[in-house]
Amino acid sequence: MSLVVQKFGGTSVADSEKILAAARKAVRAHQHGHQVVMVVSAMGKNTDTLISLAAEINEKPPAREMDMLLSTGEQVSVALMAMAIDSLGYKGVSLTGAQIGIKTDSSHTKARIHSISTDRMKALLDEGNIVIAAGFQGIDDQFNITTLGRGGSDTTAVALAAVLGADQCEIYTDVDGIYTTDPRVLPEACLVPRVCYDEMLELASLGAGVMHSRSIEFGKKFNVPIHVRSSLSDGPGSLIVDDADTAGMVVSGAALTRDEAMVSVMDVPDVPGTILKIFKPIADRKITVDMIVQNVSDDDTTSISFTVPRGEAAEAVSVIKDVVAELGGTLAPVNENVSKVSAVGLGMAHEAGVANRMFRVLADAGINLEIITTSEIKISVLVDRTNALDALRTIHGEFSLDKIEAQPNEVRPSETAKRDVSALDVIERLQVIGMEALTIDDIVLDNTQARITICKIPNRPGLAASLFEQIADKGVFVDMIVQSFNNEQIADITFTVKREQLQDAVAVAEEASKEYGCEKIDFRERISKLSVSGIGMRSHTGVAMGSFEALAEAGINVEMISTSEVRVNVVVDGDDGARGLECLQTRFAEELES
Ligand code: ADP
Ligand code: ASP
Ligand code: MG
Repeated sequence: MSLVVQKFGGTSVADSEKILAAARKAVRAHQHGHQVVMVVSAMGKNTDTLISLAAEINEKPPAREMDMLLSTGEQVSVALMAMAIDSLGYKGVSLTGAQIGIKTDSSHTKARIHSISTDRMKALLDEGNIVIAAGFQGIDDQFNITTLGRGGSDTTAVALAAVLGADQCEIYTDVDGIYTTDPRVLPEACLVPRVCYDEMLELASLGAGVMHSRSIEFGKKFNVPIHVRSSLSDGPGSLIVDDADTAGMVVSGAALTRDEAMVSVMDVPDVPGTILKIFKPIADRKITVDMIVQNVSDDDTTSISFTVPRGEAAEAVSVIKDVVAELGGTLAPVNENVSKVSAVGLGMAHEAGVANRMFRVLADAGINLEIITTSEIKISVLVDRTNALDALRTIHGEFSLDKIEAQPNEVRPSETAKRDVSALDVIERLQVIGMEALTIDDIVLDNTQARITICKIPNRPGLAASLFEQIADKGVFVDMIVQSFNNEQIADITFTVKREQLQDAVAVAEEASKEYGCEKIDFRERISKLSVSGIGMRSHTGVAMGSFEALAEAGINVEMISTSEVRVNVVVDGDDGARGLECLQTRFAEELES
């Protein structure tokens, strides 16, 4: 008998009418012969209400008690849902995370799932019950209640679908599916029929709040097709699957992280270990760092900028203040008025010129880019918050994301079949080491690239656009691009190209540097790019940290960094590549095996 997991978000269970409507959907699936597990969120804005209530009593409530409090929201919903199922004449049993046996680690309010027992759920399903599971919660090995982080019911749902071997996980929400960008922010956004796990992982972690990004990690790891659809209508929705074959689209979505902050650490020694010293304390607090950029040093010092969520900037700064002082550097005032705008698409990995199209339209719209980072399937720019919406709309239009046609959607038989063969033994293994434990697919060394830096370029709209247009005109394929921050007026732009195209690229850079009055250009023919790829690389801050640590211990200096959900890339000197690879392989030997 087939099994389906149906998750209902807060708005989809906001009142008794909606709870009954959700119950009817589950009953309908049950009538069609499916076993049904429902995962439900707290009603409406109940979680927000509980958070405000806590804040009225204690400005910094203990995390353990926060979890005790927040888990009650979902407990209300499951009980009411079971009553709704009963009122329709069917059998429903509600279960909390603890009752199911969702074991997590002990990091309260951000817990990760370790293992899930299926016995009780399976027995209840076999007796003809609809199982109603509380989303977002679990229990640690001391029986403390934990929660998975805001939006975590999606993760509960996909994780249950994985361990139960469900054919698919249906996510019922208050929009029709996954849109090219948040339709409440840009009304011209279009529904995307199919999107692949890697793209959705990026989009979710870059601000597309429709799915909790860790739920997509589960989807990818265990091959669970995820069907996102409206709880209010019967539209086709969107499928998140392994291979979305998005016919020729280079960019499949755009995302906005409105509340970012940029932290800049100036004049720290450009030696192995500096990066580790700065980021380790931040990672220890589980603060996710993005858009890490560093200047090429003039002397023996360098400056490093990075972004963190605005709400965590003060904490990030407070934990690195002493380290920065010890290193002899200074902290520039945090820029809290910035937003990150990103374009994501698998097609980018193969098609040249996506970055310069993006820079061009932003320049034409008069929008200045504070910093730029790219990875294989995404380009992110940091802009002043007042320009964020314009930037998003401009990028969205440039890549014709407002012109996607709706199509019917079904999980293809091949997609469920794939689950049967590969996913189940992975589950068995990961239930032992931790279902959300880091898994690394590959560590590779790329010795084919060269690096160019244009130092101290005036920071005004249009320079990056025209530089990369001229480079593209020469037929040079640019891989990594990083624009770092010197001060309000000045930036450095660093990029990598194939070694055999270095001369062409240098010629363009020299022209450009004369034209723009830049200080100098700096290039290195032999660089090594080391890439660690896997799932959820950015949320597992341990990968970047582990890499920095291993390289620092070997005395290898990190020159460039780019992170995405699927990969951490670091560029080191060409002479250090082979040794760097060995260090990383040793450091991650255990994660590679699993
Ligand atoms: P739920 O309570 O069902 O979990 P959420 O509020 O967490 O719902 O997620 C749905 C919301 O996500 C939508 O109302 C929409 O505003 C927002 N959203 C952000 N990005 C996107 C996107 N790319 N596609 C669809 N919705 C998005
Ligand atoms: N109720 C929790 C929240 O609001 C979990 C969820 O809805 O996914 O964040
Ligand atoms: Mg949600």
